[in-house]
Amino acid sequence: MRYTDSMSRSAEHLRAALPLMTRQRTALHPITYAVWYEFVTSRNLALNQALLAQTRDGATLDEAQTWELYRQHIGDGMKADEIAKAKIIGEGLSKVLDNMAVTAAEAGQETARFDDSLGTWVEQLLAGPSEQTQSEVLRELLSGSREIRAAMTVLQTHLSHSQQEIDSLRKEVQKARGEALVDALTGLPNRRAFDQQLSACMAEQPQPGAEQPAPASAIAPCLLLGDIDFFKRINDSFGHSFGDQVLRAVARTLQGALSDGALAARVGGEEFAILLPNSSLDQAQRLAENLRSKVAAGRIRRGEQVQEAENVTISLGVTQLAAGESAADFYGRADRALYAAKHGGRNRIAALAH
Ligand code: GH3
Ligand code: MG
Ligand code: MG
Repeated sequence: MRYTDSMSRSAEHLRAALPLMTRQRTALHPITYAVWYEFVTSRNLALNQALLAQTRDGATLDEAQTWELYRQHIGDGMKADEIAKAKIIGEGLSKVLDNMAVTAAEAGQETARFDDSLGTWVEQLLAGPSEQTQSEVLRELLSGSREIRAAMTVLQTHLSHSQQEIDSLRKEVQKARGEALVDALTGLPNRRAFDQQLSACMAEQPQPGAEQPAPASAIAPCLLLGDIDFFKRINDSFGHSFGDQVLRAVARTLQGALSDGALAARVGGEEFAILLPNSSLDQAQRLAENLRSKVAAGRIRRGEQVQEAENVTISLGVTQLAAGESAADFYGRADRALYAAKHGGRNRIAALAH
């Protein structure tokens, strides 16, 4: 986690975080501060939601809860397998570097030896320039230079081998990074990736009272939250693996209907979020309705049969960011719109203007 807040901004966050953190049953160490600092900046949506849930009705956090929130949401949210993978990659890298250091040291010793010998040969030449000394010295010079060339060839081979190992480790790192942001079932970005994108999008929004007003053409982002209707029933009736197939099909339908710049993610079991960085609420509603009808019209093959359309439907909540509001409030309103769509009978969309 990198912090780039200015002195005055961070002082504001400190003032806001202090009363909150002193209210908890946790010692006031940097981990506690990091959790509450992140909270007051509202840039870590998942953390804020988890924190609000755990401090509802005046509940306070203990040490274990605080550390867990830190581990999940700030310490890069690394899971045990990711930590293990990172450790393996780290160990591989340090082995490569060790090998390179040994080879370079050996080549260095060889060069130093050659340098010493050169000095001796020059002295011998100067002391007794007889033909015999000259040819002896030249022979030794030749064999010395062959040795050094052999040492350099070994160094070169080792370096190119190390380069290959570093390349393959780099690919591993890229793969591990990608996996940490991708939902394995649907291939869509996962909740963590979505939160990062949402934070990045929010950071680009003009702050109220900012010196540079937003250009008239700029439109605040819209957020769609979709949740498959009665998904539990689909699982119960046709099995979990058919449920998985439905999730993949819905993900494909959503992804396929989006325009450039829109981001769809799987943010929960049967929940999807779509961020439209530049769209009016009207356009977002039209897109939501289009997605709803596409999902409802979809056919999913189950064994030899074709699943009937009305069995898989989705409800969607739509909203648009209000000036100066936090990511958590933005997301919360989209969630309330989704709830309204569910409450209104499902297989429908509901929009909530700010
Ligand atoms: P509602 O219309 O109110 O959204 O009802 P629902 O049944 O869709 O909602 P509920 O939250 O009761 O059930 C969601 C179900 O989604 C329960 C859970 O077992 C299932 N689920 C979550 N993740 C997965 C998954 O990865 N694969 C499958 N097959 N099922 C999943
Ligand atoms: Mg749900
Ligand atoms: Mg559901």
